Amino acid sequence: MARKPLSLNDGPESPFVHLCQPDPSKSCGACCGLYNYADSGREALAARLRNRTRLFRETVRGPEDLPRFSEAVKAREDGRKRYEVIHCCEYVGFLDGQEKTVGCLLHPMQNAGLDMRDVSFYGRELCDGHFCPSYSYISRAEKLAVLEILDDWYLYGACITDIDLVKEFFRLVSEAAGEMPAPSRFRDPALREAARRFFGLKLAWPYRSEAANRFGKYSFDGTDYFIDSIDYGALGCEKSRFDRIFLSLQSAFKDREDVRKAEETIRQHIEDVVDRYKELVDFH
Ligand code: SF4
Ligand code: SF4
Repeated sequence: MARKPLSLNDGPESPFVHLCQPDPSKSCGACCGLYNYADSGREALAARLRNRTRLFRETVRGPEDLPRFSEAVKAREDGRKRYEVIHCCEYVGFLDGQEKTVGCLLHPMQNAGLDMRDVSFYGRELCDGHFCPSYSYISRAEKLAVLEILDDWYLYGACITDIDLVKEFFRLVSEAAGEMPAPSRFRDPALREAARRFFGLKLAWPYRSEAANRFGKYSFDGTDYFIDSIDYGALGCEKSRFDRIFLSLQSAFKDREDVRKAEETIRQHIEDVVDRYKELVDFH
């Protein structure tokens, strides 16, 4: 739930890294069900958020207006979901006029101090207190580096919730570079761009399975989910060293040649990052 907006990160010395609303260039609404619509493409989601934000600003003055708002959103929008068991909250919207940050329209910081999250599906306490697993499993340095690299809500939300993708990226870069790059290194435009190209694979991966029940490494079968796997034996090859990344990217390969090309793509993206990082280190 993309609640707890807006205590922005205080800077590199702050022990807590705020992933939900990190800075004015981006934010995440993944646990409010943002990516769980049948059409969760960028344009479709942006239009959905734009329309409901406008309606909210025009019609909601207090909690008494929320039932009408909720009904209107449900009547106007295509409510089909990818996974029935995951709730899609109608109160996610754009939080700023430039449409750079997504989050909770009911949050007190959006309503002159009035907290209206009591009406939500999860209730105010859950909306306010939820921290997704990325808070625990992604290290502080990795979090800060991702915040330097990405500045787009759609890609950011898809990546920051993908723990394997983030951790594998930094593991491979660190192994090849001999150290974990300091997050501030990613302020270098060329390094940031190379890293962005890697994370951009999350949205533009040529081997991405379009199976409706896939979500990254997870597969859903009605009410339950399980972690997918790639049958390398059936493809006639060894398990790839990029297996975790392939699963995060929702890969489906048709033959070993696919696997080989996919490995080359990942290897090249990592190498681009490492090469630029080494240039920077050598230069200083
Ligand atoms: S009310 Fe909805 S949008 Fe707001 S934090 Fe809760 S789930 Fe997210
Ligand atoms: S998925 Fe995680 S980072 Fe995203 S809004 Fe929810 S708690 Fe915050």
